[in-house]
Amino acid sequence: MAKTLYKNAVLVLPGRKTGRGDILVDENGKIAAIGKVAEDVERLCAVSDVSDFLIMPGLVNCHGHTAMTLVRGLGGGLPLQRWLEEAIFPVEAKMTAEDVHAGAIWGIREMLAGGTTCVADMYDFPGEGMGRALRETGMKGRVCRVGLGFVPGRLEDCISFTREFNKGAEESVLADICIHSEYLTDEPFCRALAEANKELKRPVHLHASETEKEHEECIARHGKTPIAYLAETGLLDCGGYVAHCVWATDDDFRIMADKNVTLVHNPTSNMKLGSGFARIPRAMELGVNVALGTDGCASNDNLDMFEEMHLASLIHKGVAHDPTVLSPWDVIEMATINGAKALGAEKTTGSLEVGKDADFAVISLLAPHLTPCLDVANLIVNSMHSSDVAATYVKGKCVSMRGILPSRSEEQAFNSAVSRLGLAENMV
Ligand SMILES: [Zn+2]
Repeated sequence: MAKTLYKNAVLVLPGRKTGRGDILVDENGKIAAIGKVAEDVERLCAVSDVSDFLIMPGLVNCHGHTAMTLVRGLGGGLPLQRWLEEAIFPVEAKMTAEDVHAGAIWGIREMLAGGTTCVADMYDFPGEGMGRALRETGMKGRVCRVGLGFVPGRLEDCISFTREFNKGAEESVLADICIHSEYLTDEPFCRALAEANKELKRPVHLHASETEKEHEECIARHGKTPIAYLAETGLLDCGGYVAHCVWATDDDFRIMADKNVTLVHNPTSNMKLGSGFARIPRAMELGVNVALGTDGCASNDNLDMFEEMHLASLIHKGVAHDPTVLSPWDVIEMATINGAKALGAEKTTGSLEVGKDADFAVISLLAPHLTPCLDVANLIVNSMHSSDVAATYVKGKCVSMRGILPSRSEEQAFNSAVSRLGLAENMV
């Protein structure tokens, strides 16, 4: 890789700053300089004039089930339990590693095209499916073997998968430990996984307090909320990231802040399934790190992090009757550096800083809906769409350029997976 200078862009910088400047990316794909780069350095680089563009840190999607691109929009409008049992589970039961890999590639293409450079995924076939797809495409991410109490041998499988996947692995694609949720595991499972994690030392990825019913049933079973109960099993001892937390209490937020556990806010999914709204301003007040996620694209139905930013920004103002809650900068940090912190990757990604990997999105500012650019943070959160992203870079390498679609073979693999799952007749 040649040294490349991206010249005179509008930059989104740490400390909630913006301004015009250059970014120098070195041969190893790291950011070597930010600001005004000297002319003698410029002569030694490939130079890209990006004066009409904004460069922002790559977005971190902290909770997803990427291969669910295969069932995009399936069962829309059904209540959560019926949606899972009647529409989603029967199709998922038929999925092979090959199907999951094709769906994962498809979702990764969508995310990269929309400026997302890192994703935390939870799905079946994490090694041959999402893990392989991440390594093939150059996207960063976290994968996991989903902890399910009712599957024989799953506990041992979760432990050995995490250990084996991470052996010699680069930091950009790693396995974390995971349970699907409190309600699909039992206490011995959680305690044994927590015990094994004393050696593995990975954050835990899980769903909790998504619906009121789930939250209340956990209290009935264990006398505690899902977060309080899971904390007691030791499962949160190496930190983690928890999707939804719609019904989480103030005490839950205190536990999360104390244990370095991130709340992953999924506004689209929570609204589509009628679950409610996580109390994000309160969680932040109590010191919880809040990140953003799309969830799977059957409950979304896209992997557009700009849409998540926009919704997160709006709904809490509406709920609180207060336009000052969740500033555009709060939301941008949720979608970037806070996500990187959740995954333990803040030293290498999540912001434009010298020494970090060059993971960024390049966005044209010439579109009518992005003009005039009076307030950059406000423009990103309230006016931009993922389709405005012109190019996405991971470790300095261009991984998506506007106009470049998935390859013919990726398209064929995706379409055959959709057919094999019996969904082809629904396709238009
Ligand atoms: Zn989920």
